[in-house]
Amino acid sequence: MNVLVANLGSTSFKYRLFDMSEAGASMLTSGGFERVSDYTACIEKMLEDLVAEGHLGSADELDAVGFKTVLGKDLTGCVDADDRVLDALEGFKEVAPAHNPAYAEGIRCFQQRCPGVRRVALFETAFYQWVEAAAANYAIPSAWRDLGIRRYGFHGASHKFIAERTAELMEREDVAERVRQLYVQGPGDFNGAPLRVISCHLGGSSSVTGIHNGLAIGTSMGFSPQSGLPQNNRVGDLDAMAIPYACKMLGITVDEAEAQLTKQSGLLGLSGVSNDARDIRDAALAGNADAQLANDALIDSIRHWAGSFFFKMGGAEVISFTAGIGENDATLRAAVCANLQELGVIIDPAANAAVRGGKEGVISAANSRIKVVVIPANEELVIAREVFRHVAVGDALS
Ligand code: AMP
Repeated sequence: MNVLVANLGSTSFKYRLFDMSEAGASMLTSGGFERVSDYTACIEKMLEDLVAEGHLGSADELDAVGFKTVLGKDLTGCVDADDRVLDALEGFKEVAPAHNPAYAEGIRCFQQRCPGVRRVALFETAFYQWVEAAAANYAIPSAWRDLGIRRYGFHGASHKFIAERTAELMEREDVAERVRQLYVQGPGDFNGAPLRVISCHLGGSSSVTGIHNGLAIGTSMGFSPQSGLPQNNRVGDLDAMAIPYACKMLGITVDEAEAQLTKQSGLLGLSGVSNDARDIRDAALAGNADAQLANDALIDSIRHWAGSFFFKMGGAEVISFTAGIGENDATLRAAVCANLQELGVIIDPAANAAVRGGKEGVISAANSRIKVVVIPANEELVIAREVFRHVAVGDALS
């Protein structure tokens, strides 16, 4: 079965074409466009290229297209990208303005261009479907909750991949298989020994998720991807009273406050240097105090959330790092895990320094009770796998 993964960023369009089978995935080709304003034109050009390069006889030869949709009102999971999905994206376009309209356009374009090709949406919120109400709800009036204001969680594809891969690395096939089947069969019952993972996705956008026996128990991100850790240029956690206070004192509108919190805050806002963790680290090393503060605030927030999930799960067997910062910044990883010997975390400095550049590896010492690992992210592969399971396994079940 061939599966095309369409990744519609706020200003980019990237794609990968996979050949999927029960035995695994092989990528046939990939490509993309930057500074995109017209997704329909990009999709047309991509389909032309796929035919011209001989990957497809025509667009109709695609078996399925997968979309990494972000946030749908009243809808999540891995589902057919039909009118329900379009309505759900439309319903929350104010909460995810950079992503929801782009995905709606992309889905409609495939609907019109090749209506016979199966379209599947994997929501970034899907991994958090089973988080308990106590952890998913904010303490707000019911009228606010009726609007759908609650913790949803994001980076679901990435954290789910970590759930599966850490289970494989720990030789826990029972948990790995539970994770693989999660969106097809639900969590079911689980009677095995505990496997508790603290998953740190640290990149341009960052989150920490607690994963208990393959299921997310909570995450640092909330109602929108603006919450949790300080992001590249987005605020992360902020006291709710700060917004009305800043609006009054600075004489700015709510829209202006939103723009400042989503474009001029986070690591960029704190450092005043850059939204790129490498530039911030270099500036900090050169003595820039604000850059040092941004770096320290990121580390503090990671430890804050990781500590929260350690407590909630009653411990951990694995701490995992992934994405651009998590895969490459050994100094940050060491700082996150510093002084945790009493909790059973001991980093091996040489092993830690050696794992970078998209490599997988164990960075904890042999005598560390908790295993600390680095696992490269591959969101497109995750989507291809889920789309394949949705179409192949889902059809077999129905
Ligand atoms: P991602 O969103 O996963 O592509 O990650 C992007 C982030 O990873 C950027 O903010 C970079 O600062 C960071 N990054 C990439 N390579 C490195 C590196 N070698 N050291 C530290 N941070 C890095």
